Amino acid sequence: MNKNLRPAVVAGNWKMNKTPDEAKALLGEIIPLVKGADCEVVACVPFVDLLVALEATKGTNIKIGAQNCHWEKSGAFTGEVSAEMLKAIGVDYVIIGHSERRTLFGDNDLTVRKRTRAALDAGLKVILCVGEYLEQREQGITTEIVRLQTKIALLGVSAEELKNIVIAYEPVWAIGTGKTATAAQANEVNAAIRELIGELYGKAAADAIVIQYGGSMNAANAEELLSQPDVDGGLIGGASLKAKDFSVIVSEANA
Ligand code: PEP
Repeated sequence: MNKNLRPAVVAGNWKMNKTPDEAKALLGEIIPLVKGADCEVVACVPFVDLLVALEATKGTNIKIGAQNCHWEKSGAFTGEVSAEMLKAIGVDYVIIGHSERRTLFGDNDLTVRKRTRAALDAGLKVILCVGEYLEQREQGITTEIVRLQTKIALLGVSAEELKNIVIAYEPVWAIGTGKTATAAQANEVNAAIRELIGELYGKAAADAIVIQYGGSMNAANAEELLSQPDVDGGLIGGASLKAKDFSVIVSEANA
């Protein structure tokens, strides 16, 4: 596989952190540090920070994303936000199926598929998260789990629509734990996802799709992870809240 066929995407997942004022301040620190990056740089911020973040990043190379969306356009879904609403205010990306949504808020492969569909229909780019629990890795079924999650989420997604999907391989046991998959483990699963994309959509689509790694990536381990042939960037939690660390990861993705 040739990495030059696809630009890396480095996305920060701020999770439930930063008030609007704090978001503005953090973006103000990040903007000059990532200026001129070769890769796509995204900040996925809490819903209440979206407008401030969009304003703060106007005219810069940082794209703004949300961390979830509902699958219906509107209606009696108290507390939810639709993909249409996100698109209407100028959001570019949305994370779908993050393991925290799956484990803490009842998201599952079927709702992930519905959210993915809605996001694509609204014209958003999707960061689709897949990944195994530690028990599943220990049982030797990581590839099957990740293939199944990916396959279900992509059911009904056309080759054209696939261009608006980034897949983030995030082993659940590595998220927010400080435990990182080894570079070889990350590359192996990313390669398996790429193989699946090849089976479903053909070689050109497999070459083109961006597959990130996420799970305790930081300024110290990014170089090794991002130098793997099938790791095309990262989805970054904790380290995305530190401007300098995030910018180091962005620069490693450029390298
Ligand atoms: C994430 O939230 O997607 C993530 C990878 O978190 P962390 O980098 O903190 O493990």
